[in-house]
Amino acid sequence: MKYIDEYRDAEAALALAAEIKKITTRDWTIMEICGGQTHSIVKHGIDQLLPSRITLVHGPGCPVCVTPIEAIDTACELAARPNIILCSFGDMLRVPGSHTDLLKVKAGGGDVRIVYSPLDALETAKRNPEKEIIFFAVGFETTAPANAMAVYRAAKEHVTNYSQLVSQVTVPAAMAAILGDEENLVNGFLAAGHVCAVTGYDEYYPLAERYSVPIVVTGFEPTDLLHGILMCVRQLEEGRHEVENQYSRAVSRLGNQPAQEVMREVYEISDRNWRGIGVIPGSGLRLRDRYAAFDAERKFEIHSVPTADSADCISGTILRGQRKPTDCPAFGTRCTPESPLGATMVSSEGACAAYYRYRAKS
Ligand code: SF4
Repeated sequence: MKYIDEYRDAEAALALAAEIKKITTRDWTIMEICGGQTHSIVKHGIDQLLPSRITLVHGPGCPVCVTPIEAIDTACELAARPNIILCSFGDMLRVPGSHTDLLKVKAGGGDVRIVYSPLDALETAKRNPEKEIIFFAVGFETTAPANAMAVYRAAKEHVTNYSQLVSQVTVPAAMAAILGDEENLVNGFLAAGHVCAVTGYDEYYPLAERYSVPIVVTGFEPTDLLHGILMCVRQLEEGRHEVENQYSRAVSRLGNQPAQEVMREVYEISDRNWRGIGVIPGSGLRLRDRYAAFDAERKFEIHSVPTADSADCISGTILRGQRKPTDCPAFGTRCTPESPLGATMVSSEGACAAYYRYRAKS
């Protein structure tokens, strides 16, 4: 298939759903990792095409949702300072910290700017040598190479007024944390296609082996998702736990080597706190010591203190695949996209936002 329409073909989708129904004999819970996949599933009603024995749960692959509250607080604190320009992707602006968010800081006079690339933030630094420019570097392995490249170029070009507030996370360690949880319900994974386009999928073999869980690298269109689910169910029914690649048109086993090289050059693995989940060992990236001059946390004195998430919000259990957005008593009443209590409702990729947008009103 060459064109996008073919991946949205209703007949092909129904044929895949029928095949899944034909081979399913037991109850299986399958988690899609990526928020983009969650939106595609809910938008196209893919979960409703499946037999009742298959439950889809929604994983932690939304970067905005998992950025911890203390990182938001730190970004807000830095953005409120007089000599700083804080650059961020737009969807971080409304994410609630413990007292405020970046949009309110901007409304109060803080210089918060939306950028579409970390390199735009680097250009802002070059144009404003009298200011300190901080880029809020969040996301998974999909954003990390470009973020790393911005630091690498800043170092090469001796740009001394540029730094990053880094809250980068990595997918395989989060999957291990979900599988290692004693309340885990997940039997199989759809791994995120665009993350694997960068990383490849070699890292997934030890996970599949250790936890006896099938992992299928999967794309984002309806037939991709149904095909990935079919491959996963087939493995589960046959008692296999292998790594398979449904998304071979974009993903190779070893991934994008130059992207991985620049990530390794600039960042190193660290423990990282995930909003709603807690600290996951080895699940994050931080700047290496040789790039310490570009690390906002080391460059500026930070005063914000760790705070707990809203007690009303159950997004942590949703991100671990143990609950659904509609299980939350606040869903669609006290918590809406206009007035969100948690990041999974704020983010355009969040599971709560997807259910609210495509399900709550239908
Ligand atoms: S509906 Fe709102 S309060 Fe409930 S889990 Fe989702 S984000 Fe949290």
